[in-house]
Amino acid sequence: MSAGAAATAAYVVAALLTVMSLAGLSKHETARSGVAYGIAGMAVALVATVVMVAESVSAGAVALLAVAMVVGGGIGLWRARVVEMTGMPELIALLHSFVGLAAVLVGWNGYLEVEALGPAQTTVAPELLGIHSVEVGIGVFIGAVTFTGSLVAYGKLSGRMKSRPLALPGKNALNLGALVAFAALTVGFTVAPSLGLMIAITAVALALGWHLVASIGGGDMPVVVSMLNSYSGWAAAASGFLLDNTLLIVTGALVGSSGAYLSYVMCQAMNRSFLSVIAGGFGVESGTSAAVEGEHREVTADEVAAMLTDASSVVIVPGYGMAVAQAQYPVADLTRRLVERGVEVRFGIHPVAGRLPGHMNVLLAEAKVPYDIVLEMDEINDDLASTSVVLVIGANDTVNPAAMEDPASPIAGMPVLRVWEAKDVVVFKRSMAVGYAGVQNPLFFRENTSMIFGDARVRVEDIIKAL
Ligand code: NDP
Repeated sequence: MSAGAAATAAYVVAALLTVMSLAGLSKHETARSGVAYGIAGMAVALVATVVMVAESVSAGAVALLAVAMVVGGGIGLWRARVVEMTGMPELIALLHSFVGLAAVLVGWNGYLEVEALGPAQTTVAPELLGIHSVEVGIGVFIGAVTFTGSLVAYGKLSGRMKSRPLALPGKNALNLGALVAFAALTVGFTVAPSLGLMIAITAVALALGWHLVASIGGGDMPVVVSMLNSYSGWAAAASGFLLDNTLLIVTGALVGSSGAYLSYVMCQAMNRSFLSVIAGGFGVESGTSAAVEGEHREVTADEVAAMLTDASSVVIVPGYGMAVAQAQYPVADLTRRLVERGVEVRFGIHPVAGRLPGHMNVLLAEAKVPYDIVLEMDEINDDLASTSVVLVIGANDTVNPAAMEDPASPIAGMPVLRVWEAKDVVVFKRSMAVGYAGVQNPLFFRENTSMIFGDARVRVEDIIKAL
């Protein structure tokens, strides 16, 4: 068997492993094996590609490839080991931007190898030149939109950029104009390829990616992250067409379609229009939410311990602050102690709590909280009215009644956990500061709400001591 045929067979194996990886990642119980299949698939693909490429290039080029793989793999391994769980979302956004940049470079390489040489010198058949030019245009476009969009997402998720939506005048017309300009430029490039048109397509796409994500508010960022995940898949698939690499086409399409489906599911969970979000907040005018005023009530760890001693049922609602404080371990300990005392303890997880889909589930699984007491928002919301105490550990936007009560709020319409229906609510946070969407939270001023200030981990440990 030739190296090429062996590599093609290996590609089929790698594609199957990618499918098994995605299937595994869809459930808690099988997530670990999903990751293992993903690693195996990527390893098979890398080895097969190097073996195939080695047939047609010099030993020096293969050595360069090996050096690139060792350096890239080394940086990846180091980042994955040192990244905190709270830094994961921005790392993922940054990784998406690399996929976008790679697609732009592959597109430019395609142009330099074919169109820039002119029909007389390229090896591409004249009747296929037009198709090649369209592939270059689309590949560069998707890649550049993914690249700048992901960089803005990285900025917003890491706090380097404000999470408020950018509201340029006529933002929808700008986005539509960029799409029309891209289509016109690609047609022009296909008819008469030129360096100027390549630069123009790249510039329009870079600006569009930046503007699309900058126009999205903090509350809608989860959908943007999964959407960029999807775009990075399509960017890889576009590169696959240009490089004539079936594995890139197959895996890119898998990532693209699963990311698109995840975005759709998240839009449904958040009551957002999918089309509006992918069009950079199309049809959403940024409103000003009603001013929130009132007195809040503060409690001590001893008082919370007394409340929990009298409680028959407790629901714990974790949010991003639990991840920051790494409070999942004392929270799991508190849960065990309460269950031993005969209290019914359950967790209520909002679909966009934290900064990653499934963020809270991962943290709770890490602290060995049993899966069967960790419930989704829809499974627990109706039970909150009959709950003695709700402990809100570092959650804010996902428990904000303004989403249901203030139509002018930037998070209006987003389903939230109705924690205020419980007999008592205790909110753990460090100050009266707003959540990620930048919206004031009237929950903190309700009569049955008490605030316990300080780092959530320290406060939960204080409560355990008091118990
Ligand atoms: P929020 O981000 O709304 O609020 C977190 C709260 O935690 C803050 O108000 C903060 O208050 C508190 N906090 C921070 N550090 C600590 C600490 N050490 N101890 C105690 N409290 C702390 O959290 P939610 O989880 O409710 O909402 C998630 C938000 O993130 C939503 O707007 C969502 O749309 C967005 N998002 C979600 C993504 C996802 O996929 N899940 C991705 C991108 C964005 P204080 O500073 O006063 O302590």
